[in-house]
Amino acid sequence: MSPSDQPPDVDRLARSMLMLHGDHTHDHEPAPVAGGQSRSKATAFADDPKRAAAAREATQADKTRYLTSGLQPVDCRFCHATVNVKRLGPGHTAVQWNSEASQRCAYFAELRASGTDSARTRSCPKLADSIEHAVAEGCLDAVSTAPPPGDG
Ligand SMILES: [Zn+2]
Repeated sequence: MSPSDQPPDVDRLARSMLMLHGDHTHDHEPAPVAGGQSRSKATAFADDPKRAAAAREATQADKTRYLTSGLQPVDCRFCHATVNVKRLGPGHTAVQWNSEASQRCAYFAELRASGTDSARTRSCPKLADSIEHAVAEGCLDAVSTAPPPGDG
């Protein structure tokens, strides 16, 4: 009979710790108290929108940076409208039209003049041509990726 053969009672210890944690959580559960409580609630709410707005702002900035990071201005050779273009890969080009460009684009103007639904045409074919030229001339990154490690 040797008591040292018995493994340490870690299981029991862990369980007791878990119970302790459980007790702790229960301790912090808000008690249903009238008065006083509404005030602390208001304080929490006053703090929340600020943090939520900050988080939203950060997310928005992150999103904007992601969306605009690879954007490069491309001039339409036909109508000289400038749009932001991001090359995502072969056959995948994101074109960001702005109101000025769509106003200036002769192709869209032509469509409007002829009464064609310009909403069905998402891009000016002349511009698509210009983008291809820009890629061919090396003015536009063929595939926009993260900056290469250690270029210098
Ligand atoms: Zn155009």
